[in-house]
Amino acid sequence: MDCIFCNIVAGKIPNDIIYQDEEVIAFRDINPQSPVHLLVIPRKHFTSLVQITEREKPLMGHMVTVANQLAKDEGISETGYRLVINCGQQGGQLVPHLHLHVMGGRQLSGQLG
Ligand code: 5GP
Ligand code: ZN
Repeated sequence: MDCIFCNIVAGKIPNDIIYQDEEVIAFRDINPQSPVHLLVIPRKHFTSLVQITEREKPLMGHMVTVANQLAKDEGISETGYRLVINCGQQGGQLVPHLHLHVMGGRQLSGQLG
């Protein structure tokens, strides 16, 4: 399948990978919406949250734990940050490979969409 994030996982697209383990990788968003804007993605392809079931409970927990650690590493733990998963067209998802946005480093709006 021609998936841009699968290609990043496979190392086919040069990328600024800031964290990786057996389950996930994390890298900086190419078009950051905040001073810190990271993406945490599973190595395995899931098109969206719709594909997530009880079986992925440990994976989803792991993604949040990694996001929290990266927020700490990036120095935004104290000031605050936002984790976002967009799902589907009306959810604003553009890349059809599950990803968790980690955003911070500025005052984010209180508005969600
Ligand atoms: P979505 O709207 O699907 O939740 O977010 C997709 C995000 O992926 C966007 O913030 C976009 O800037 C980012 N993105 C898309 N293509 C690439 C890429 O090739 N490299 C990186 N680092 N980020 C990308
Ligand atoms: Zn993929």
